Amino acid sequence: MASAPDNYKIYAIKYAHHDRPARDNFLGGDSHDVNMPLDYFVWAVVGAGRTFLVDSGFDVEDGARRGRTTTHKVEEGLGALGIAPESVEDVIITHMHYDHAGNRSLFPKARYHVQDREMAYCTGRCMCHGVLSHPFDPEDVKTMVGRVFDGRVEFHDGDTQLASGLSVHRVGGHTDGLQVVRVHTERGWVVLASDASHLYANMDQKRPFPAVYNVGDMLEGYRRVHELADSAQHVVPGHDPAVLTRYATHSRETEGWIVRLDTAPR
Ligand SMILES: [Zn+2]
Ligand SMILES: [Zn+2]
Repeated sequence: MASAPDNYKIYAIKYAHHDRPARDNFLGGDSHDVNMPLDYFVWAVVGAGRTFLVDSGFDVEDGARRGRTTTHKVEEGLGALGIAPESVEDVIITHMHYDHAGNRSLFPKARYHVQDREMAYCTGRCMCHGVLSHPFDPEDVKTMVGRVFDGRVEFHDGDTQLASGLSVHRVGGHTDGLQVVRVHTERGWVVLASDASHLYANMDQKRPFPAVYNVGDMLEGYRRVHELADSAQHVVPGHDPAVLTRYATHSRETEGWIVRLDTAPR
């Protein structure tokens, strides 16, 4: 008989912020002339015996170059959880965009989990097109290629279980090899959608984000993340500031920037 999947705690750690008009968040724009900011997150998935980091964020300099404000360095967020970056052994990279695959020297011991198709995409002919290559930092891509040669990359093709209660699933759409992470918690199966849906509004209203490789796959992705999760309340978008108000804070000191996704949202 199969044993019950392991449970994890999940922390969403906000590290940066960007103000932008609502029209920048929807393919075809938006008629509301309002600010609709993005927050930037990494996620720590903490099990009894193993911790997985989901995405590595960007550092202050790489963010500033693109006009993004770092609110707390990624290492500061991890420190608040008692996680030393040099002790991190597994980093799941949802996709290779600069805001998910930076902080290149922060995790010297980590093995990186990436989809086959993401590495092919970010090193292939699509990068000849500025509109597709713009969100990638070539230094992140070169560093990941170096890790391949150092034996520090674990490739995945589609759906892979990494541990009891934790798996990755290729969704594509936003980038060709975008993967989401499914995590078992005390409240059931939670899905970290990352940029499969930047905001709640993208997936809830089925209105794609404009940074997109394949619109059809992005729309299918909205359905897929909901299939993988126990309910709509179990799907966590990649950049929505509302995540920080819907979920319980980790501690008084981290109010407004670190929340617990393994607890039920408000
Ligand atoms: Zn992205
Ligand atoms: Zn992103």
